[in-house]
Amino acid sequence: MSKKKLGVNTICTHVGEIKDKQFKGAISPIYLSTSYEFDGVDIKRYPRYFNTPNQEHLVKKIAALEHAEDALIFGSGMAAISHMFLAFLQKGDHLVVQNTLYGGTSNFIKEEFPKYGIEYTFTKGYQVSDFEAAIQPNTKLIHIETPSNPLLTITDIKAVAHLAKAKGIVSSIDNTFASPINQNPIDFGVDLVMHSATKYLGGHSDILAGAVAGSKEHIERIWNVGKNLGGSLSDFTVWMLERSMKTLALRVKAQTNNAKKMAKFLDRHTAIAKVNYPGLKNHPQYKLAKSQMHDFGAMLSFELVEGIDAMAFQKQLKLIKSSMSLAGVESTMLLPSETSHALLTQDERDAVGISNQLIRFSIGIETFRDLKHDIEQALIATKTKTFA
Ligand code: PLP
Repeated sequence: MSKKKLGVNTICTHVGEIKDKQFKGAISPIYLSTSYEFDGVDIKRYPRYFNTPNQEHLVKKIAALEHAEDALIFGSGMAAISHMFLAFLQKGDHLVVQNTLYGGTSNFIKEEFPKYGIEYTFTKGYQVSDFEAAIQPNTKLIHIETPSNPLLTITDIKAVAHLAKAKGIVSSIDNTFASPINQNPIDFGVDLVMHSATKYLGGHSDILAGAVAGSKEHIERIWNVGKNLGGSLSDFTVWMLERSMKTLALRVKAQTNNAKKMAKFLDRHTAIAKVNYPGLKNHPQYKLAKSQMHDFGAMLSFELVEGIDAMAFQKQLKLIKSSMSLAGVESTMLLPSETSHALLTQDERDAVGISNQLIRFSIGIETFRDLKHDIEQALIATKTKTFA
């Protein structure tokens, strides 16, 4: 059967396995060697060249899941982003980048690009017209993030990819929030798809990794920069990631199903002022999300009504953890105003819509009624304390 026709669970389980020919074990062996025979071999293997047996096999799984020709894996999501940007941008070039996106990506651009002489524009919004307005004659890359962190805004992938293509600009997307199970941007014409593999691909909050998928030509260009920058992933972690990804589709589907129920529950709750989830019909881009996502994902954010202290509420949770990261099998929440967006001023946060009542919620695989019960008891406990 050709790989294109394999179902997503089969890809997760089997594509990119290394057959253990020596002992016939059921799972991929780990090749930890940093030194390989040099004489008379076709491939000069070295971990920093991204070509150890485990690296070469795992990228097949990632490429298959993202409908890409090839992929590379890195030591972190930020390594994936920085390698990708630096492969397509050089001195005098210009990047157009979405205004609502992961804080680390914004920091990288603002702090590092001036040192390299690379110009950039953050869009005013996330409509196609905002991207078009930001393009300059020297624009070489357009980077989007959808659904975005933490407001779950949706960018029209096809429209932005077509805009870029028409102007001869390379396009890239951060697909971390959706995961390849819920969104395959290459089908809509995007050139490069990157992931913080620390999130859904790893899925157990115990791996730091990143990935980029795209055409062979584009990946080779990133490889050429990568071998100099040296951001490859250790083979032990590569092996852990391969093992974790066997359950990627199962996990993400269970998490997404929980999230859909959770969004409806929160949306109806009188203590909740607003829910940001692209799967709710009242989300301003519900139709767009439906047209470009296989399903709506397992990330949402919500605002508590005024009078319920968001920090106090989080402290009352017994099952749902307060955590900076996301996408593990366990449910986690965080307050963007106190964590990921704490460095912005109140005015800056207000401008992008991040209120002090906003909570980002990464939904795990727990039994839904237990999650619901945890939120209900925490709301009662917070209200009792607040109004006592
Ligand atoms: N992209 C998104 C959407 C993220 O949420 C993160 C991390 O939180 C990153 C990229 C960076 O990934 P890493 O922490 O693996 O470097």
